[in-house]
Amino acid sequence: MTAVGEQTASQRLALGVAQQSLASGFERSGVGLHSGESVRLRVLPAPVGAGRYFVRVDLPDQPQIPAQLAAVYQTRLSTELRHHAASVRTVEHLLAALAALGIDNARIEIDGVEVPLLDGSAQGWVEAIQQAGWVAQPQPRPIRRLSQPIWLQSGDAFVAALPAAALRFTYGIDFELAAIGNQWQSWAPEALSPDARGEDSFAAAIAPARTFGLAHQLEALRQQGLIRGGSLDNALVCDESGWLNPPLRFSNEPVRHKLLDLVGDLSLLGDFPVAHFLAYKASHELHLRLAQQLDRCLSH
Ligand SMILES: [Zn+2]
Repeated sequence: MTAVGEQTASQRLALGVAQQSLASGFERSGVGLHSGESVRLRVLPAPVGAGRYFVRVDLPDQPQIPAQLAAVYQTRLSTELRHHAASVRTVEHLLAALAALGIDNARIEIDGVEVPLLDGSAQGWVEAIQQAGWVAQPQPRPIRRLSQPIWLQSGDAFVAALPAAALRFTYGIDFELAAIGNQWQSWAPEALSPDARGEDSFAAAIAPARTFGLAHQLEALRQQGLIRGGSLDNALVCDESGWLNPPLRFSNEPVRHKLLDLVGDLSLLGDFPVAHFLAYKASHELHLRLAQQLDRCLSH
């Protein structure tokens, strides 16, 4: 039963809630997955309407890089943003945490090229946001609704956005390796707020899921200058015989991580359009092609 004056989750999303920023800043340091470089990152409150944006504080004139689709530069194994000559890489886990917790406006100062990987999940970012606190700002978050399905395919992989009453993300993966196999996860936020802490919240169900890799591919990636900062401490690794560094945090931790990546990539739309997002065996590239098509669709 719903008490008078109480809103359901879909009503709250439909009516629009106030934009939010952090109540105070926080700082984290760590190595980037691909660069292997140690970086310091500070997330600070930002004014209403400012959006989420990076500032390369190590470069002359401290250039800003908006966390928006127009700034997507490349998507090989992680999402890299670039504005003029300044770039920032592997933005997806931090942005997923900010967007899923409803932090619309944030200034992210970074003194290097890549966001720290932390433990390979978004848990550290979620905890930092919850500790920093948040404030409502005097403008509603925009609400965009999808009226037509959008569908993109690449081989047997696909991404889709379907008209829906409430926001939902569903992801499937299928690997030959028995350790992973076929996995699915579906997640619908009750609210985009740091307050959401139930077992189905982003903080509990999605944020703890770590990056994963296949042992036989790691050497080739290293030889290409990638994953220099990757280790058994910040990524789940498996081979034919199973996981090299158990235990898993969820039996389907890999697909939950893919869902986390999808949330982070779609956050580059600025707001999440109300839709059911569905991805199967997809990649950052497909996630972002969907976001671009969606953006074109919704702005006409
Ligand atoms: Zn990821």
